[in-house]
Amino acid sequence: MKILVINAGSSSLKYQLYDMTTEAVLAKGLVERIGMDSSILNHEPTGGQEISEVSEILEHTTAIRKVLDMLVHKEHGVLQSVDEIQAVGHRVVHGGEAFKGSAIVTQEAKSEIRRLFDLAPLHNPACMMGISAAEINMPNVPQVVVFDTAFHQTMPEKAYLYAIPRVLYKKYRVRRYGFHGTSHYYVSQKAAEFLNRPLEDLKIITCHIGNGGSLTAIQNGESVDTSMGLTPLEGLMMGTRSGDLDPAVVPFVMNKEDLTINEVNSMLNKHSGLLAISGVSSDMRDITDGMAAGEPNSTLAFEMYEYRLRKYIGSYAAAMNGVDVIVFTAGVGENSVVVRQRVCENLSYLGVDVDEALNAVRSREPRRISTANSKVEVLVIPTNEELVIARDTFRLVQEQNSTNS
Ligand code: ADP
Repeated sequence: MKILVINAGSSSLKYQLYDMTTEAVLAKGLVERIGMDSSILNHEPTGGQEISEVSEILEHTTAIRKVLDMLVHKEHGVLQSVDEIQAVGHRVVHGGEAFKGSAIVTQEAKSEIRRLFDLAPLHNPACMMGISAAEINMPNVPQVVVFDTAFHQTMPEKAYLYAIPRVLYKKYRVRRYGFHGTSHYYVSQKAAEFLNRPLEDLKIITCHIGNGGSLTAIQNGESVDTSMGLTPLEGLMMGTRSGDLDPAVVPFVMNKEDLTINEVNSMLNKHSGLLAISGVSSDMRDITDGMAAGEPNSTLAFEMYEYRLRKYIGSYAAAMNGVDVIVFTAGVGENSVVVRQRVCENLSYLGVDVDEALNAVRSREPRRISTANSKVEVLVIPTNEELVIARDTFRLVQEQNSTNS
């Protein structure tokens, strides 16, 4: 079965085409600047020549049509016909409490995703545009939605409730949801596989650190706590997001600076984090370069980032009364030797012992960076959220086909 995986943002659309007989990626790509001047489609057929095409793409329906045209293109295509695509899997950011797993797209599922616009105004409307656009282009192909929040639906009340009047939960479902669930799920499964140990026996802390970042405490293969909350703003210091702060800062600053809700949201989501402290960049590569050059603001940004990450690891070890495995993943986690080194050298009280040479290895394969003496296994596992989406889509569509036949 060939499955198209779609990750739609408000002005972008990422895609990967899978052949599920081998789980091979046949092609992948990205449409950027949808709705702006000179939209760009970057297409990469596996083993073939990468191609960029600039055109006017005003909305997501045209973006998907262009992608489908490219997938059957005489020179750059990988399919004879669009009909070979038997299912589409969509990444959806917020599934609220309604979606505890992935689901086939029905009218009811779409209404529920729309109801969740309120909780994820920046993300879910874009995901919905991707779904509608795929339905218009491929009306008879089953669609599946896979949620960033679903894996965290196993969290106990004590972890997901905020200590605020309960009526706010009852009326508006204000609670911790957590995000990056497909990634935390994938790397925890891979970690158990890599160690050749049953997932149920392991206490795992997964650190998904990219532009956004979150940590998850995983016990018995289930998320028991995670650092992002109602929205992806809570928790770690991130590229441009503040992460945790005293909630009283918000009304204080709004009052002093006469800011609107949108302005304060924008400040905390887009103008904070590494960018605000370094004054230079939200990209960890620039921060570590600045630190190596002795630049004080980059050094401070790095130290704050590392300190907060390490405090979260400590708090999750406390939450689970121990930790067997720490996993690093996503852009920073997979690539930044210095972030991993600095975090781990300050976790010696947990018995963490990282091998400098192993930590310096660059690879796309899962690997161990801890020494044989380390009491905690420290692993680097490249994440693959698209593969989880493709697998869930494959499973649900097969289940649906077998009930229909
Ligand atoms: P997203 O959260 O958007 O999915 P990624 O997981 O791809 O992002 O992470 C992107 C971030 O990874 C970049 O902003 C950069 O800070 C970081 N990164 C990528 N490569 C490196 C590297 N070699 N060293 C340090 N950081 C890196």
